Formats: sequence, C-alpha cells, structure tokens
Amino acid sequence: MHIRRERILLLLLLALTLAVWGTVWHDAAGSLTVTVLDVGQGDCILVQAPSGRTMLVDGGGTSGKSTRGYDVGREVVTPALLARGVRKIDVLVITHPDEDHIGGLPAVVEAVPVKMALDPMIPGDSDTYDDLRAALREKKIPVYRAREGQRINLGDGIYADVLNPPEPLLDTDSMDNDNSVVLKVVDGDLSVLLAADVDEAGAARLAAMGDRIRSTFLKVPHHGSANPARTPFVKAVQPVVAVISVGARNPFGHPTAEMLRELKGVGAKVFRTDEDGAVTIRLRDTCGVPENLCPGRGEG
Ligand SMILES: [Zn+2]
Repeated sequence: MHIRRERILLLLLLALTLAVWGTVWHDAAGSLTVTVLDVGQGDCILVQAPSGRTMLVDGGGTSGKSTRGYDVGREVVTPALLARGVRKIDVLVITHPDEDHIGGLPAVVEAVPVKMALDPMIPGDSDTYDDLRAALREKKIPVYRAREGQRINLGDGIYADVLNPPEPLLDTDSMDNDNSVVLKVVDGDLSVLLAADVDEAGAARLAAMGDRIRSTFLKVPHHGSANPARTPFVKAVQPVVAVISVGARNPFGHPTAEMLRELKGVGAKVFRTDEDGAVTIRLRDTCGVPENLCPGRGEG
C-alpha cells in the first residue's frame, strides 16, 4: 500500500513538473521576439527566434568615444543579453562601421560567444572599427561580407533576408549610412524590417522594392532623421508598430517631426527608446504592442 501511494505521489509530481516546464518551454518557444535595446543615441537590436537562435544587430556606441571609460557594450548591452537568457550569438550583424552602432561591440564579443558575423565591409577606417575587427580576429569568429540576396536561417521557417547593401555599393554622399545592412525578418505573414541608418538614396532604393519591404514592425531608419525619401519608404513598409532608437536630448534633433508625422500618417503605433526604454515585441503576441507596454505584462 505504502509503495503504491508513493508511486502515485511520484507520478503526480512528475505530471506537475512537466506541466510547469511545458508552460516555460511554450513561453520561451512561442514567438519571435525582437528587442530594441535602449543604448542612448545608437542602435542595438536583439532578435530571438523560437528555435533558440539569436541574432544581434549592432551593439550601441557613443559618438565621440571619449566618455571617461564608459562602455555601453559592457555596461548596457552585455547585461541586457544575459538578463534575457542569451548565452551565445548565432549571427552578429554589423550594419555599418559608425561609432553609435559598433562602439559597444568589442566588449560584447569579449563577453558572449559569437558564431559568425556579417559586415558590409564598406571602405574606410576608424579606431573603433579596428578594435572590433581585432576582437573578432582574436576570437576566430568568421566574418562574411553582407550583400543583398543573402538569407539567414533562424529555424522553424523563420529567416532574415538581407535587402541592403547592393553589389556594387551605392556611391553616395552618405556612403556608410546608405550601404548599411538592412534586414527583413520573416515569420509567416508577420515581419520585421530593421532599416539601420539608410539615408535618402538607400531609403529610395528600398521604397522601390514596394511590397518586398512591407512589414508589421519597423525599426525606423537613422534614428528618425528627416530622410527626404521618407514618404515613399514609410508608405511601402506600412508598419503597424514603429520603433525609433534614439538618445534623449541628442544634438541631432532626432527624431524629426517630419518622420513622426509620416509614421502617424500610416497609422503606426510609435515607440522610442528615449521615452519608453528598451522596447520588446513578441511578434505572435495577440496584444499587438511591445511587451513592456502591454497591459499586465509590464517589465517597467
Ligand atoms: Zn546611427
């Protein structure tokens, strides 16, 4: 009798454990999750696929670099990755070599294992870019040249298409920005457009793709600058949710009233990291707005 009761108890415990793990597993595996981290005036976007694959797009940075030892990669990005359960980065995307996108990456590469990196390899040099390349070399991380037409497999049918830069690179006054790596992450009928820092020529080129750039969620290009090609670009994307990665009281006037008006014009819900902090969207969430702003789901 005793043994039987213990067995039933054990079975009950096992069922309970499975139920709890089922909930946790479902939660972790349920939705493609995209977080636009709050790195001040810069970009850093974490993409977590249900398969467990992770993609980090840029790593923040601080224009001017001389910030008395402050390193956004060490102080903000790495702790944010660890807090979200990221123990390895499958694909690191360097959108372009500007300080506000790559300044934090050497510290991230030092702290978190990276399997491979994509880099547009735009000609030009800077100390920060040299530091990043040295960090990637030291860790023996393979670096591939990013060009339109490539596809990154994130598992379970979810993928990211590289839409920019083209080959040959765009020859414009804003070479770095216009050739930055633009990705469209696709999960069935839902998608995310990470538009990096494209300026007029880059945005006009993307706008000409029409339906190919239509996306549920848009990381607004170039911190919401007054891009002259913004109207056809935003009309082609038709985002439901738009996030602007921008620093409070930045000296560039980002985001501009023109871009905000454009986004509101297509009915997009607009969030900005200077006011909302890190913005997380779980693409399959019925709530339809970023997680930290969704009633009852708050992370503050
Ligand atoms: Zn930027």
